[in-house]
Amino acid sequence: MYQLNTNYDKLPGSYLFAAIAKKIAAYQKEHPAADVIRLGIGDVTRPLAPAVVAAMHRAVDEMADAATFRGYGPEQGYDFLRDAIIRGEYTSRGVEIDRDEIFVSDGSKCDVANIQELFSPECSFAIGDPVYPVYLDSNVMAGRTGELLADGRFARVTYLPATEENRFSPALPAEPVDLIYLCSPNNPTGTALTRQELAVWIEYARKTGAVILYDSAYSAYIAEPDCPGSIYELPGAKEVAIEFKSFSKTAGFTGVRCAFTVVPKALAGGKLNAMWNRRQCTKFNGVNYVVQRAAEAVYGEAGRQEIRRTIGYYMENARIIREGLSSAGFTVYGGVNAPYLWWSLTKNVKSFDFFDRLLNVCQVVGTPGSGFGPHGEGFFRLTAFGNREQTSEAVERIKRNAGQLLG
Ligand code: PLP
Repeated sequence: MYQLNTNYDKLPGSYLFAAIAKKIAAYQKEHPAADVIRLGIGDVTRPLAPAVVAAMHRAVDEMADAATFRGYGPEQGYDFLRDAIIRGEYTSRGVEIDRDEIFVSDGSKCDVANIQELFSPECSFAIGDPVYPVYLDSNVMAGRTGELLADGRFARVTYLPATEENRFSPALPAEPVDLIYLCSPNNPTGTALTRQELAVWIEYARKTGAVILYDSAYSAYIAEPDCPGSIYELPGAKEVAIEFKSFSKTAGFTGVRCAFTVVPKALAGGKLNAMWNRRQCTKFNGVNYVVQRAAEAVYGEAGRQEIRRTIGYYMENARIIREGLSSAGFTVYGGVNAPYLWWSLTKNVKSFDFFDRLLNVCQVVGTPGSGFGPHGEGFFRLTAFGNREQTSEAVERIKRNAGQLLG
């Protein structure tokens, strides 16, 4: 008789997001005329850049001709894209990365979730709190987290609190850990680590023999020169860090699907690079040709400019939210180096209750901070991915009803 992987029974999180979806549906059923504005979703809304679309059309035409048709591609990605990534992401930052250190994939979500298979189930790990829930959930599924405790934490997980007090830059763990997930710019806090802060983590990993799993899916949004766009800009990082980057938020590829992971050969004497290569060759058959041509166009002259404009659009939304909420007397973080705003609630209101209050009073939807970890309680995430009119309207509603929301 088969046995199920009972680790799945320990999974938290999805309950909260399912509950939110239910609440929105119920509200809309009760108030069919209500103009509900969604600033909760972490998905882009602007169309693909024209240069990307043109590259896709050209690639589709190639697929329609027997002379240029492509079947299975290399599991690691086509050389043209890996070389474009090297030039556009690394050489431009003064970083040397070899082609065989780059692994093109169909998303950072799968990569950050799958990478843990390269490590023993005995390895301990640390995650930021709050953070993108995939790091924790994928380790729960793999049985690496121990029991779920009454306070919602897992017994074998080291949580690194990111709080107002530490400017959302977590302190080093008190106990030794083998793997460290860092997310910068951070989802949900919208803050990014500075060069100096990141250097502390690299030094720690080098000293203790830990590996940093560095999720930089939002690096294209970094505006402050003090925050590095790649962990490899810092000396010594190649010996201790794997980096994940995605075209999803950089270039509107959330539906198109393309990302890449850098596994340096300097890490673990090349062993992790060889293992990830083996893993991808066994379990993954590559990203489709049309999409890889689209991703290549992101680094062309026209693509770069068009993508800058779209990111500028979202970051103007972020400015409107940040300044609007601040002017109404609220405390809000993020929104400078990332498209996320992290709204600090008054101490006596739970983020899940605030979700109801914001929906009922303003017909605006956001995401309760508690969905991202225990230290997300007392905060609320808004995203800058909406359209301008709706974003501005949501901010006006919040400003008009500030008294009621604060109460
Ligand atoms: N990493 C972070 C921090 C994210 O917030 C997201 C998506 O929201 C992802 C990775 C997933 O990216 P992708 O669309 O490439 O799977």
